[in-house]
Amino acid sequence: MNTAPRNVDRRSFVKGLSTGIAAFSAASAFPSLARGASASSPKKLGIALVGLGNYSTKQLAPALEEATDCYLAGVVTGTKSKEAVWREKYGIKRSNIYNYENYDSIASNPDIDIVYVVLPNSMHAEYSIRAANAGKHVICEKPMAMNVAECEAMIAACKKNNVQLSIGYRLHFDPNTREIMKVAKEKPYGDIQYVQSEASFIMGNNLDAWRLDRELAGGGAVMDMGVYCIQAARYATGEEPIAIRSQEFKTDWNKFKNVDETVTFQMEFPSGAYSNSTTSYNIRSNRLYVSYSKGLAQLEPATKYGGIKGSIQDRILDPQPINQQRRQMDGFARSVKTGTPSIVPGEEGLADMKVIEALYKSLQQGGKRVVI
Ligand code: NDP
Repeated sequence: MNTAPRNVDRRSFVKGLSTGIAAFSAASAFPSLARGASASSPKKLGIALVGLGNYSTKQLAPALEEATDCYLAGVVTGTKSKEAVWREKYGIKRSNIYNYENYDSIASNPDIDIVYVVLPNSMHAEYSIRAANAGKHVICEKPMAMNVAECEAMIAACKKNNVQLSIGYRLHFDPNTREIMKVAKEKPYGDIQYVQSEASFIMGNNLDAWRLDRELAGGGAVMDMGVYCIQAARYATGEEPIAIRSQEFKTDWNKFKNVDETVTFQMEFPSGAYSNSTTSYNIRSNRLYVSYSKGLAQLEPATKYGGIKGSIQDRILDPQPINQQRRQMDGFARSVKTGTPSIVPGEEGLADMKVIEALYKSLQQGGKRVVI
């Protein structure tokens, strides 16, 4: 458990957004370019990870060691004891280590080009907006925020400060997942009829308690894993859903008393395609199945860090020896360097959050059809 003081008062922060917006210039948005690097420069951009939990420690920091276009330049942590550990392990300068109180002073640090928010969901909006106001480009983990209003505030803050915003949708950088997206775009197997997407895991007792606290997580399996099901249905059809129905199942009322344990939901798409999804904190499932009028595709596992594999018709999609997180961060660094939009911008997270809001509305209405 983290014991260091934290600045988690989101509401008062969001209320105060209109004040204290940092003065912005192209130089503050991209300090290394301002110091003379060009868009095609091989210089690596500096990333600061905010929140040194499991995902930062086990996936993002190791991936940054392999990255070609960015590197781990700094960290933001509320746990004092992590500072020395990270400084020594990754050779991070003392001056590039921040806590949640002095976080805004990152604005004057030319080593940091990109801030990557890897905090509990309730903190995503606040720390992304503060990063944007500090003139830094932002990557924010999924789910983008707690609700649509927060997502919109994040997008607005990044626009206002002329910085890029990207969501941690690593699967868009996985080659086999991209094959599914390509079929949705080019339609070599006819119309897309049906998508089944499932993303679940059995939650042990070793995960940080915030995932089981609605105030910090915004929900349960839906916010954490359901977002992958929504993503999959959206990229496998290439369409935006127009309506949703959802159902909840609970077997462990004690562990999951404040958050959803298992939720199934069905979405309708404008072309007539439909989807059926299951997300859970208490079953095992991780697959994507797509029925086309003249074929089918499947991925299993469909959302894991490595080894995504499956087939499209009789073409086997072997697991690719790539690091999704490295590709995701390098991809964003190149977007920043070249001034081209991220392939997973804030709008992508906002689209998923609109679905999540409708999903919860349907649950509240006993599974009624809700227009998105
Ligand atoms: P962890 O619980 O492992 O880490 C969260 C970290 O946030 C903590 O270690 C702590 O870091 C910081 N923190 C600040 N305030 C709090 C608080 N009130 N309670 C708990 N932690 C706090 O979470 P994960 O790393 O697993 O997840 C972080 C985010 O990343 C989530 O939004 C999650 O959805 C997303 N994620 C995305 C994945 C993907 O594949 N794209 C995979 C896993 C997670 P410190 O001590 O440094 O302050």
